[in-house]
Amino acid sequence: MIAANNPNLKSWVSVPENSDFPIQNLPFGIIGNHILSKRVSVRIGDYALDLKVLAELGYLKETGFDSSDFDAPFLNPMMKKGKLAVRGLRNRISELLLDSSTSLQNNPSQIEQVLHLISAVEVSMPVEIGDYTDFYSSKEHATNVGMMFRDPANALLPNWLWIPVAYHGRASSIVLSGQDIHRPKGQIKPSADEDPIFTPSRQVDFELEMAFITFDGKPLGDSISTEEADSYIFGLCLFNDWSARDIQAWEYVPLGPFLGKNFASSISAWIVTLDALEPFSVESPEQNPKVLPYLEFDGKKAYDIQLQVGILTNNKDETVVCNSNFKYMYWNMAQQLAHHTSNGCNIRCGDLLGSGTISGKSEDSFGSMLELTWRGTKPLKVKDGSERKFINDGDSVIMRGHSELNGIRIGFGELSSKLLPAK
Ligand code: CA
Repeated sequence: MIAANNPNLKSWVSVPENSDFPIQNLPFGIIGNHILSKRVSVRIGDYALDLKVLAELGYLKETGFDSSDFDAPFLNPMMKKGKLAVRGLRNRISELLLDSSTSLQNNPSQIEQVLHLISAVEVSMPVEIGDYTDFYSSKEHATNVGMMFRDPANALLPNWLWIPVAYHGRASSIVLSGQDIHRPKGQIKPSADEDPIFTPSRQVDFELEMAFITFDGKPLGDSISTEEADSYIFGLCLFNDWSARDIQAWEYVPLGPFLGKNFASSISAWIVTLDALEPFSVESPEQNPKVLPYLEFDGKKAYDIQLQVGILTNNKDETVVCNSNFKYMYWNMAQQLAHHTSNGCNIRCGDLLGSGTISGKSEDSFGSMLELTWRGTKPLKVKDGSERKFINDGDSVIMRGHSELNGIRIGFGELSSKLLPAK
């Protein structure tokens, strides 16, 4: 077992009940403010632990990291050191925060330097994202979309059960939770017998996803096996892959997603390490037909992460519209990474791989408005009394995720972003 995951650990830093960030989590993110330059930190309860200063004070000597690794606007320099180094670092931080550890605990002036109230700092984009790939790995989601747009009797395309289907997305428009986005404009075809028009999208949607961030991979030409995959995964965040369904529907044949998808995707601020999620690994859904040998895997590769989506209307009324779970994914992260590199394609430190919309079997677990309202034919009632087919201007979409076992709750915080009118 990874030492920092021990459910019996308690910290001298007070952690509110039901916090997403107990000592067993210790996710990484970037903080700064008008005094502090952007730097690497670890979240515990309502505090951010400043790793730059912690290293300067000599607390991280034996971890192989020094303060320059943390004196950076992104986590990438730290991630460059790889899985085992980051695991050792997280274990060392855990030790320092243990209620039985006195070195830092008994030094109030140092505590003042290294522990910042989260409300006193600005949290910024955690990772400089290199390449972004979006999978399509929920069988329920792919089936729902296939039923709506193609043939209900043959909803899954013939390749879907053989290949973890994906496309290359755009990294430049991935933004942090809290950043508002504008309704995109584009070409849509209002009906079969009308010519296309250029207009603000009328069908802006969210996609409930999780994404994982990679360490440096192997050289171009080499592949990562399912067995090796975990060593190349740094951690996970919540991911809202905003989509304009009307633009998407008109443009996607024959080359797939483009302007209907690349106007914005939002991520949560704290990257929860794959290590921290290890206690919550579970069996994946059965795969039938049997996958090709390079996609076979051993062990539990799915993760039990409860996911929720709420829509905030009027800036005050939140309606929960979806409760799903990351464990429903048909293709797991190890298979996605093995498939992605099976042709020799290289991944690099800071790449982001999205899961694809995470839908469950029941109607209230569908991970997009497209499915929840069945392409607008079954509008949802929201708390303020109005109805939604898709997302309206002024609405915020809020995503949450956490795992819970033996009284330990590991969460991702909130991913919240508001849709503004078209520019
Ligand atoms: Ca997507």
